[in-house]
Amino acid sequence: MVQSHAERVRGPAVERIALLEAAGRVLAEPVKADRDQPPFPRSTRDGFACRAAELAAGPLRIAGLLRAGEAWTGGALRAGDAVEIMTGAAAPEGSDCVAMVEHVEVNAGQVRLTASRAPAPGENIVAAGAEARAGDVVVPAGRRIGVTEMAAAATCGYVRPAVYGRPRVAILATGDELVDPSETPKPHEIRNSNSYSLAVQAAAAGGMPRIFPVVRDDPSATERAIAEASLADLILLAGGVSMGKFDFVEQALLAQGAEFFFTGARIQPGKPIVFGKLSNAYFFGLPGNPISTMVTLALFAAPLLRAMGGESERGPQFVLARLDGEVRVKAGLTRFLPARLVSDVSSARVRTVAWHGSGDLAAAAMANTFLVVPETAEQLNGGDLVSVLML
Ligand code: AMP
Ligand code: MG
Repeated sequence: MVQSHAERVRGPAVERIALLEAAGRVLAEPVKADRDQPPFPRSTRDGFACRAAELAAGPLRIAGLLRAGEAWTGGALRAGDAVEIMTGAAAPEGSDCVAMVEHVEVNAGQVRLTASRAPAPGENIVAAGAEARAGDVVVPAGRRIGVTEMAAAATCGYVRPAVYGRPRVAILATGDELVDPSETPKPHEIRNSNSYSLAVQAAAAGGMPRIFPVVRDDPSATERAIAEASLADLILLAGGVSMGKFDFVEQALLAQGAEFFFTGARIQPGKPIVFGKLSNAYFFGLPGNPISTMVTLALFAAPLLRAMGGESERGPQFVLARLDGEVRVKAGLTRFLPARLVSDVSSARVRTVAWHGSGDLAAAAMANTFLVVPETAEQLNGGDLVSVLML
C-alpha cells in the first residue's frame, strides 16, 4: 500500500548545490562520464611499458621515464624499446603491456625479464574507455550520494550536481505524560524520546524534520496541531492511535478531512499504525511505544519519505544473518524483536536483546536492528538464517 503511493509521489523540486554539500542528497540528474574512463591507457603498475612479445624474446632498451600526469613526447614506441612507467601514467602508443618492476632487472640502460612468465598483451594496462565511454551514465538519477557516488561525481566534474529538495517532515508527539528532555519529569511523567528518534530516522531517510511542541491528549489541541503541521509534506504523529479513552489522533485527523489508506497492520509491535493523506500532506499515525515508533517508521514511513525525496531505491532494508540463540513467539503476526547484529569478514550474526515489550528503551538502546519473525513461525533456532530489518 505504501509502495503504491511511493510510486506515485510527485517528484520534488530540484536545486544545484556544491558537491561536498550534496553528500547524502539524492541525484536529480544522472552523472555521465564527460570523457572516456580511463581517458588514456592507464598503467596499473610501476614497471616498464613495452611489447610483451619483445620482452619475452630478450632485453629492451630503456627509452625514457614516464611519471603519472606526464605526457609521453617520444612518439610511438620503437621496436626494441621499453619506457619506465609509474602507476597512473599513460602507456605510450605502441606498448601493449607493463612488466612489473618486481619482475625485471635493469642493467646498463636495458631492462630484462627475470620472472619465469612474460606479461601477456594487455597486462597491467586498462585500455582507454574500458571503464566508461564519454556520455555513459556512471550513476543514475535517483541515487543517494554516498561515498562511491561522490567519487564518481568528482571524477566527472559535477561540481554543482542537481539534487532533489528534501521533503518537509512535521513531527508531533502526543501524550499528557510527556515532557521535553530538558525538563525534570514528575514521578508520573516521562521524557519525550520519540520526537528525537523520529527526527534522526526521518533525516536519514532524506527528510527535513521539524519537531513540533508536544500535543496534549485533547481533541481540539490535537486538531489544532495537525492543522498547523499540514503544510509539511509528511506528518509523523507518535502516540494516541490505540483504543485508549484519550487516544484522539484518528478522530482529529478525520475531523480535519483526512483520507485513510489503512488503519492497522499485522505486525507486532506497531499494529495500530494508520496511514493516509490530509490535503497535500501524507501522514502516519505511529503507535507511541518507542520501539513501535522506530519499527513502523523504518517499515512504512521511511520508504515513502525516500520516494518523496526522489530516491529510486527505497527499502525498507533487510539483511540475512545467522541467529545466535533460540527465539519462541506466538504465531499470527510478523514480529520485530530488538536485536544486535554483529558481523565480521565471513559472517553476520544476530542475537535478540532481552526486553520488556515495546516500551523498553533500555533494550532499544542495546539493539542496532530488528529480528524479523515471520507471521507463521513459532520458533527460530540457533544457526537459522534469519531476516533482519535495518534501522
Ligand atoms: P500511546 O501510543 O499514546 O498509547 O503510548 C504508548 C506508550 O508509549 C505509553 O507508555 C506512552 O507513555 C509511551 N509514549 C508515547 N509517546 C511517547 C514519546 N513521545 N516518547 C516516549 N514515550 C512515549
Ligand atoms: Mg498516548
